[in-house]
Amino acid sequence: MIDTLELIEIPAEDEALRTEIRSFLSDALAGLAPDIRARSWMGFDADFSRKLAQRGWLGITLPPQYGGAGKSAFARFVLSEELLGVGAPVSAHWIADRQSGPLILKYGTEAQKSFYLPRICKAEAFFCIGMSEPDSGSDLASIRTKAVRNQAGWLLSGSKIWTTNAQHSDYMIALVRTSGTTADRYKGLSQIIVDLKLPGVSVRPINDMAGDAHFSEVFFEDVQCPDDALIGVEGDGWAQVNAELAFERSGPERLYSSMVLLETWLAHCRFNDAGNAVAAATLGQIVSWLAVLRAMSLSLTAKLAKGESPAIEATLVKDLGTEIEQAIPRLIGEVLGSAPDAPVSASLLKTLAYLEQLAPSFSLRGGTREILRGIIARGLGLR
Ligand SMILES: Cc1cc2nc3c(=O)[nH]c(=O)nc-3n(C[C@H](O)[C@H](O)[C@H](O)COP(=O)(O)OP(=O)(O)OC[C@H]3O[C@@H](n4cnc5c(N)ncnc54)[C@H](O)[C@@H]3O)c2cc1C
Repeated sequence: MIDTLELIEIPAEDEALRTEIRSFLSDALAGLAPDIRARSWMGFDADFSRKLAQRGWLGITLPPQYGGAGKSAFARFVLSEELLGVGAPVSAHWIADRQSGPLILKYGTEAQKSFYLPRICKAEAFFCIGMSEPDSGSDLASIRTKAVRNQAGWLLSGSKIWTTNAQHSDYMIALVRTSGTTADRYKGLSQIIVDLKLPGVSVRPINDMAGDAHFSEVFFEDVQCPDDALIGVEGDGWAQVNAELAFERSGPERLYSSMVLLETWLAHCRFNDAGNAVAAATLGQIVSWLAVLRAMSLSLTAKLAKGESPAIEATLVKDLGTEIEQAIPRLIGEVLGSAPDAPVSASLLKTLAYLEQLAPSFSLRGGTREILRGIIARGLGLR
C-alpha cells in the first residue's frame, strides 16, 4: 500500500500561482487577528468567498464550460495551501468547492451540472453535507432520513445533525434511504440535493465549546423535493458517498488546521525564544512531521489529478494529519508552560486557547480516528 504513494512535485505552472495568491491574501487579510484567522476553513465570510470567485479561484478544477478554471488538482493544492496557511476565512464556499462541485461533475445530469456548477464558481451557491444523524454518525448505514418517491419527485422526512454551515447554506447533499430498511445496511441509500429554502426545512444552530455556532441540526418535515433532486443513481448512495469522502479527506486542510497558531508561535520564538533548545526541538519535530504529511497529501493529489479515487490513502493521510493538527497546540502549550514567567502576547495566548478547545474536533469531523483505522485495516486486508 505504501508503494501506491509516490513522491510527486507540483508542476511549475501550478506552483507559479502561489505568488499571485500570496499577494492577494496579504492585502485581503491585512489586520485580521491571528485568533480569528485560526478558524481558517471554519471561518465564514461570504464576501471573501466572492472575492476569490472574482479571481477565478472557486471551482478552480471544474471545466470552463461550467464556469470553472479548468486547472489541475495541483493548482487547487497550491491555492488551498496558501489559503489555509494564513487562515483565510474560506468556510462559506469550502464544501461546495472541495466536494459538492466535484460530486455533481462526476454523477450529475447535464442539467444539474449546468445549474449548480456555475453558481458554485461564482460563490452564489453554498453547500453543506448531510450525512450524520442523531443516532448515526460512524455507522452511516443506519441512517433513517427517508426520501419516498411520489408523483412530484421525492418526499423527504427525518433529520441531520452536526451539519457544518447548514444555517448559511443554499443546498445540502443529503444521504438518505430511498428503499429498504436499516437492516439492508448500505443497500437502498441515495443522495439527494435539498434546496434548504423549501417549505418543511428547519435549521437549528448548535454552539461548540469555543462558542462558535458553525454547525446545525436540520429537520425535514415532509419536504417535497423535485424529481431531479436525486443525484447519481438511486441506491448507489453509499458508493457515491465514499467517492465524496476521498475528496473530503485527502486535502491539505487535514494537516493545516493549526498553522496559524504555529506561525504565531514561530514569530514569538524568533523575538523572544531564540536559543531556546526546547522550542527548537519542538519546532523541528513539528516541521519534519508536516513535511512528510505534505508529501503524502501531494501524492494523493496526483491520484485525484489522474481521476482516481484514493479513498484508503486519503483515510491514512487524514488520520495522520489530524494527529499533527492536534499535537501542535499541545506541544506549543507545553513549551510555553515550561517557562510560565516568560512574557507571551495576548494574541498568541488567545490563538492557543482557541486551538486547544477546537482540536478534539479534528479527529471527529470527516470520520473518527477509530473508524478511519478500521478502514485502513480493511484496505490492508486485515479485516
Ligand atoms: C466540527 C465537526 C463538523 C462536522 N460536520 C459535519 C457535517 O458537515 N456533516 C455531517 O454529516 N457530519 C458532520 N460532523 C459529524 C461527524 O462526521 C460525526 O461526529 C462523526 O462521524 C462521528 O459520529 P458520531 O458523532 O455519531 O459518533 P459515534 O458514531 O456515536 O461514535 C462515538 C465514539 O464511538 C467510536 N465508534 C463508533 N463506532 C465504532 C466502531 N465500529 N469501532 C470502533 N469505534 C467506534 C467512535 O470512534 C467515537 O469515538 C461533524 C463533526 C464535527 C465535530
